[in-house]
Amino acid sequence: MQMVTVGVLALQGDFAEHEAILRRLGVDVREVRLPSDLTDLDSLIIPGGESTTISRLLAMYGLMQPLRDFAQHKPVWGTCAGMIVMAKTATNLDRETLNLMDIEVVRNAFGRQIDSFETALAFDELDGEPVKAVFIRAPLIRQVGEGVKVLARLDSGEVVAARQGHLLVTAFHPELTDDARLHKYFLSFGDNDD
Ligand code: GLN
Repeated sequence: MQMVTVGVLALQGDFAEHEAILRRLGVDVREVRLPSDLTDLDSLIIPGGESTTISRLLAMYGLMQPLRDFAQHKPVWGTCAGMIVMAKTATNLDRETLNLMDIEVVRNAFGRQIDSFETALAFDELDGEPVKAVFIRAPLIRQVGEGVKVLARLDSGEVVAARQGHLLVTAFHPELTDDARLHKYFLSFGDNDD
């Protein structure tokens, strides 16, 4: 694999788990906290955590516009809270999202009793066995725009992973499993040369 440097937004949430998987795959990892950290990165992961906190910190550190500019050309993947901040709209979020992807997201979509669960998920574009998907107070995608490809649904039909060109979102946490297939899949994304 060609040497690449992948950024992981490290304001809050489970960025360390993403970094561990990326290092296992032999890529250079850089924690992103300031706009200057984005310089010369090949791609970026926005981890799970608390989307209200992450969006507040994004604004506080002046990262909103730099991230929008970055995502125009470079691959970005949001997991769980990361998916929420990448969405065009999110329910019950008192902050502006980054609005990178044409999806509408429902926060905390699975109610209190089943805040967290695991399921085997068939994932389009991944070979082999289903993905073990860990959902923790997870969001779901209730609407996707034109140009957005649905990659995975729960048995109930709810959309929990999608891709729009070089942008990827998953409602669950692949970084909390030993399965690195989704990270490898993301690393295969090329720049947007439009
Ligand atoms: N419930 C969180 C939110 O709304 C997301 C949870 C997670 O990232 N595991 O931001």
